[in-house]
Amino acid sequence: MSVAAEILRLRREVAQLHTELTRYGLVAWTAGNISARVPGADLLVIKPSGVSYVDLSPEVMIVCDLDGSVVEGDLAPSSDTAAHAYVYRARPEVGGVVHTHSPYATAWAARGEPIPCVLTAMADEFGGEIPVGPFALIGGDDIGKGIVSTLDNHRSPAVLMLNHGVFTIGRDARAAVKAAVMCEDVARTVHLARALGEPVPIAQHHIDALYDRYQNVYGQPGESPGEP
Ligand SMILES: [Zn+2]
Repeated sequence: MSVAAEILRLRREVAQLHTELTRYGLVAWTAGNISARVPGADLLVIKPSGVSYVDLSPEVMIVCDLDGSVVEGDLAPSSDTAAHAYVYRARPEVGGVVHTHSPYATAWAARGEPIPCVLTAMADEFGGEIPVGPFALIGGDDIGKGIVSTLDNHRSPAVLMLNHGVFTIGRDARAAVKAAVMCEDVARTVHLARALGEPVPIAQHHIDALYDRYQNVYGQPGESPGEP
């Protein structure tokens, strides 16, 4: 597929995936954003800044280079574009990045506490705890650096940036959206467990076995569950 055809496909895909963020209650007003790497080019497709979710058509998506400069589009790109671009530069296997302030996961981020791996679904998807990344101000490369340095030491495709919210990665944008949905789901369940008492940890060898099975065996033949 030509780069132009890939951009057209990803404009549609990224626009459509934004409807999942509202469907799962992960975003309020215009917060949150999704991007996708354009295969075969040093480009990404991302949501414009400050546009209502109902107005996010394929045509308004912004194409940027991997330094975050606009290549195609009439609007300013998401204010988190620098963070997305940094992740794509640092991690060539990543094809999609998602950012939300989903409420339960962000409540953990506000307290700076990793979500402990106390559910088999967490072992499956995240391979362990969901870690906390450093406090970083928006604008330069600080958020991107914090995402990458934290995820380098974890199997998790999700990171809770301190006092801020969730960033997830995936082999494509859809996989990164799935990680954002699952992150909020387990953040809520572990929060409820905590409210009732002390959650029971899962032994590391069980976490390893669950993660390996889910990442390599689970699902339909030829279909990956979503890890980059
Ligand atoms: Zn944010």
